[in-house]
Amino acid sequence: MSPLAFLKTPLFSTSSKFRLLREPFIRPADPNIEETLADFVRRRLGEEFLDYAINPFVAGVYAGDPEELSLASSFPKLHELEREYGSLIKGAIKGARARKKRGSVSKQTARLFSFKNGMQQLVDALTALHSESTYTDVRIDAIQKEESDYVIRTRFGGESASFRSRGIVLAVPTHAYDELRFEFDVPIREEISKIVYPPVAVVFFGYRDNPASIPLDGFGFLVPKKERREIPGTIWNSTIFPGRAPTGGTALTTFVGGTRQPENVALPDDRLVETVGKDLRALMGIDRTPDTIVIRRWEKAIPQYRMDHRKIVDAIEAFERRCPGLYVTGNFRGGISVSDCITQADAVAKRVASELSGQRVASAHGEE
Ligand SMILES: Cc1cc2nc3c(=O)[nH]c(=O)nc-3n(C[C@H](O)[C@H](O)[C@H](O)COP(=O)(O)OP(=O)(O)OC[C@H]3O[C@@H](n4cnc5c(N)ncnc54)[C@H](O)[C@@H]3O)c2cc1C
Repeated sequence: MSPLAFLKTPLFSTSSKFRLLREPFIRPADPNIEETLADFVRRRLGEEFLDYAINPFVAGVYAGDPEELSLASSFPKLHELEREYGSLIKGAIKGARARKKRGSVSKQTARLFSFKNGMQQLVDALTALHSESTYTDVRIDAIQKEESDYVIRTRFGGESASFRSRGIVLAVPTHAYDELRFEFDVPIREEISKIVYPPVAVVFFGYRDNPASIPLDGFGFLVPKKERREIPGTIWNSTIFPGRAPTGGTALTTFVGGTRQPENVALPDDRLVETVGKDLRALMGIDRTPDTIVIRRWEKAIPQYRMDHRKIVDAIEAFERRCPGLYVTGNFRGGISVSDCITQADAVAKRVASELSGQRVASAHGEE
């Protein structure tokens, strides 16, 4: 939370803290050689920092493993700090000075936010913006090219329908490309299907009171792989956001699976609840059955930006150049957080507006 808090924390050994003091003097790596996140952290900050800070963090954000992720693709800002300043610590200090000069605020001071009624509220609001021309729950079957237009083939209640348009923004996950029929030559499927999405189960426990024997005074916790638990972490929703539990109640969301233990996602519901309950008993002193349990499994949860990611993004860019009017966006490029997806979508919307401006963008859909 601050340099002083870091020096005082019992979470890292004294030798690991001293190891960190060497960081500004470690030579930057050759920027042309791609490194995994784990190798980068090991080289600059030491093994203990990798095991106890970065490993649990990456399990929480990517449901992934730092040994598999590409530094430049998954944490481009860290990569840039080393390239620009030669050191993370020097970069943090100089960056703070530069921000002060510009009068801008560090993103680290940004607060967590969500929506009062959960994430669905965002989708509902977007849908309501253009309700007369927005169709949800519609599966795209095929995309054809007709002269300079694209035609989307789809179905409404068993009836075939089609949309004709000058431009299409594809915002589906990469595994959806396996089933999308492009009825024209597009060499994209092979590259894009290399992106791996590990499964994640979200296990929600709700209590009418507070069952924990430790103070619930934070975001929650993330578990380092070394600690050999069955869960990567738990978020204390009722501490972070208001209205997530009845007054005095507790809402806990535990993540299970990811690349660390993908097999756990396939456990039957009762075994999954038992597995989560066992770790919450050990880590939070909870020894009661929850009043509410909700389980949601994401078979393909989060795209991993692995060592071949740059090559895959290059292939996506080549695909867009080859098919003018087709745009590709989503959490598999430019960052996986919701805010990254929104930033990306905004950039795509601006490209569409500038590249297709003055052209007829969409025509009415009709029956086949
Ligand atoms: C368990 C979990 C927890 C997360 N927690 C956070 C968090 O706390 N903070 C954060 O910032 N991010 C979080 N993320 C990441 C973030 O939610 C996602 O990266 C982001 O929502 C992805 O947005 P997207 O639009 O790229 O993809 P999606 O939201 O997956 O949207 C793709 C859409 O395409 C549709 N689709 C697929 N195939 C077709 C087809 N053939 N025709 C029509 N439609 C199709 C799908 O139905 C889906 O609606 C979390 C992710 C998971 C899985």
